[in-house]
Amino acid sequence: MNNKVEEALEELKGSISDFDESEIREEVEDLILKYKVPKDQAVSTILRKHTGTTRKTVGQKNISELNSGDSGVEITGRILRVVDREIEVDSEPRSIRSGTIADKSGSIDFTAWRDFPFEENSVVEIKNAYVKEYRNRPELQIGDYAEIREPSESDLPTAEQLKKPIKVDLDNVDRVYTAEVEAEIVEVMERSGLIMRCPECNRVTMASECQEHGKVDTIPDLRIKAVLDDGVGAIQATMPKEIVETMVGITLDEAMEMAREEMDKTVVYEEVKKVVGKSIVTVGRAIGNNFLVMDYKEVSWDPEEKAKQILQQIKEA
Ligand SMILES: [Zn+2]
Repeated sequence: MNNKVEEALEELKGSISDFDESEIREEVEDLILKYKVPKDQAVSTILRKHTGTTRKTVGQKNISELNSGDSGVEITGRILRVVDREIEVDSEPRSIRSGTIADKSGSIDFTAWRDFPFEENSVVEIKNAYVKEYRNRPELQIGDYAEIREPSESDLPTAEQLKKPIKVDLDNVDRVYTAEVEAEIVEVMERSGLIMRCPECNRVTMASECQEHGKVDTIPDLRIKAVLDDGVGAIQATMPKEIVETMVGITLDEAMEMAREEMDKTVVYEEVKKVVGKSIVTVGRAIGNNFLVMDYKEVSWDPEEKAKQILQQIKEA
């Protein structure tokens, strides 16, 4: 057995999606043993042939540094959340496990395409995984060639500590489990204010009609769909009833009373639009392309001061 050949194979395993070991082994042996090509160059050549790119394995990384397109990824993290799903692959039902894994630097969602018998709180060391973009954010893919082990000891913080808010700018809310951002509410979108929900699936109904359950006895709710901007990035944010009630200073009952008097729900929309222009420090979680506001505090900003801060950040970057 040749070490260089085995190392090259190991690097390629995580990077080629339909990895055929005997085929790739033959190519590696040809280049390294027969043509005396250096290992790194052999890996690049084979990668280019099979994937069209020469991207290299990235090796050990902090979770917050992972980017879509990375392969041969090695991380150690604590699992904060797992979800099991049934999907169909070639019309065969298959159970896959996904979730969120974190280290001190941040967190990333993952999908395991292989047996992954680890529960919340477990610390796992994963090698040979890759990162793909899913719903506009990087997602760790744990494929058949990934190696996983549970280290016997770990100095990672507890799950509770890892779930605490980390201060980030709006471009990086998807890099952490719970984000703290300082931003301005620049827009309140339609379908904000008083809305009606389906009692069965919680979807927002239109004219008492749920797209899934038809005519239903709707349940009233308050929410704001807003756009937050912090000068670095912008994101759509959803504020649940509790947040709307304190931020706007109106209860659900009062909102319903207003709508009844005017016989029109849009009066509530006009009312909640008053939050545009507010600056807030908010704690929340990015879910897909949406930022779910869990808490907030109003702050006052000196726009000139903020501009200076942003310039400083750009210089430092
Ligand atoms: Zn429904």
